[in-house]
Amino acid sequence: MARLLLFFSLMVCFSFSLVAEEAHESSKEPLSAEQGLLNEALNFAKQHQEFRDLHYQEHEARFVKLVKEGQSPKILFIGCSDSRVVPELILNTRPGDLFVVRTAGNFVPPASVQGPDGVAATIQYAVEVLNIPHIVVCGHSHCGAIQGLFQKLDPEKLGILIKWLQFGEAAKKMTLMTAKPSTPKEELYALAEKISVIYQLEHLMSYPYIKKLVDSGKIELHGWYFKIKTGELWYYHPEEYRFLPLIHSSSS
Ligand SMILES: [Zn+2]
Repeated sequence: MARLLLFFSLMVCFSFSLVAEEAHESSKEPLSAEQGLLNEALNFAKQHQEFRDLHYQEHEARFVKLVKEGQSPKILFIGCSDSRVVPELILNTRPGDLFVVRTAGNFVPPASVQGPDGVAATIQYAVEVLNIPHIVVCGHSHCGAIQGLFQKLDPEKLGILIKWLQFGEAAKKMTLMTAKPSTPKEELYALAEKISVIYQLEHLMSYPYIKKLVDSGKIELHGWYFKIKTGELWYYHPEEYRFLPLIHSSSS
């Protein structure tokens, strides 16, 4: 019954939207904020229909198998919430392949943080329950959270975000120690984005159960860096203390 009501209200909204769109076409007046939101929301249903028609059909057998047998992903991907960093697209994976945690700045709170922590709980589930053997922390270029570390943010408006950015503070300090005063901002940000990946790996190692599994060779940690403009993935080489391309490409 609830589904029917939802469908009915969606259809009413859809019809209303068509009428409104036609009226808008003829009047050429800018859309109201409310109408704009409604149009965007209706697009969600259209996009979902496209998923049902295209991708679900393609993966249907896999979804059914994953429900029957459960998931057993091999990678826990900890990435930024940035809409331009799409783990499944970057790694060309199928449903069931990746277990994903996305946070602002791909920050991981260290074990010393007290109180309930959704990120730590999700990581523990991935490692201790699903036995995922690879943990990737993936930073990226043009990261808003990293840039936020270097900007004066309004505590009245962004108090929660400012608190969260504490997990990038050590990376910021190290970046400022490493960079020259003449280093351009873009280079400074890129450096901080990469240094932060290493700090987030350190935060992961502050959890005794993760350290134990890493030390015994049961799980591996990886530090990656995604360049949005070129679509390239780089990985941190701990012996060389630098990031190298994951694959050789003509553009690098
Ligand atoms: Zn980011």
